[in-house]
Amino acid sequence: MKYQMITSPEEKRVALVAHDNMKRKLKDWVEKHLAKLSQHELYATGTTGNMLNTELDLKVNPLLSGPLGGDQEIGAMIAHKEIDILIFFWDPLQAQPHDPDVKALLRLAAVWNVPVACNPSSADLFIHSSLFDAPLERSVPDYEAYRASRADNE
Ligand code: PGA
Repeated sequence: MKYQMITSPEEKRVALVAHDNMKRKLKDWVEKHLAKLSQHELYATGTTGNMLNTELDLKVNPLLSGPLGGDQEIGAMIAHKEIDILIFFWDPLQAQPHDPDVKALLRLAAVWNVPVACNPSSADLFIHSSLFDAPLERSVPDYEAYRASRADNE
């Protein structure tokens, strides 16, 4: 696989997702960092996004609810380089009906080298990094080279 460098902008596109038992933790984390987060473009799965929009003074773009396709929507945005950071408080203590979608989302974040925080302390580290508000260089698959190599094999 060939890779290329891309730059995530200063104003990050941040995806926020929390399973039901983790929603309170995510809301508390977002509230703690409201001033900083409000300088970035925020997306969230449906129920998480509606909770944040209703309970906090913050503009979040809600997508579909996770179990109904929201995780896959975020995965597609990651593959199109439209998400720079994923904050995903998944529940380690309860099975989810959409477990395949959860795995797929985490897999795509790994494929596209998107920073992922899965708990509040990781998310704290992210938000206190100077790179949170600065351009972030990251190496991602070179899709044109990938396509050309597949064509060569035909
Ligand atoms: P929700 O989805 O925000 O719609 O609850 C989260 C998830 O389960 O992925």
